Amino acid sequence: MTLSKVSPSAAKPFSCDLCQEKCYARKESLYRHQTFECPNNIERLSFPCMFCSHIAKQKTHLERHLRVVHKLRPHDIPKDLLHPTSVHSSSSVT
Ligand SMILES: [Zn+2]
Ligand SMILES: [Zn+2]
Repeated sequence: MTLSKVSPSAAKPFSCDLCQEKCYARKESLYRHQTFECPNNIERLSFPCMFCSHIAKQKTHLERHLRVVHKLRPHDIPKDLLHPTSVHSSSSVT
């Protein structure tokens, strides 16, 4: 794997510090990249399906996927499923 690091320039001062491959002139563009494109951010901002290998990019997409593909009704969808970053570590084993 080759990581071609780019350094932010005056024209594009907003560099992605996650993949270090992209620079953007606008902060909005960088945000959009990190939210939807950045390969190094896929775990943080993706919503993997618990039933198959599908990975949705948005919460609403996963909800729709669960409804259409897995026939779940909205109230059948676990709430914490839709918050992949909030891993509750309440594993109290006695
Ligand atoms: Zn990136
Ligand atoms: Zn699925």
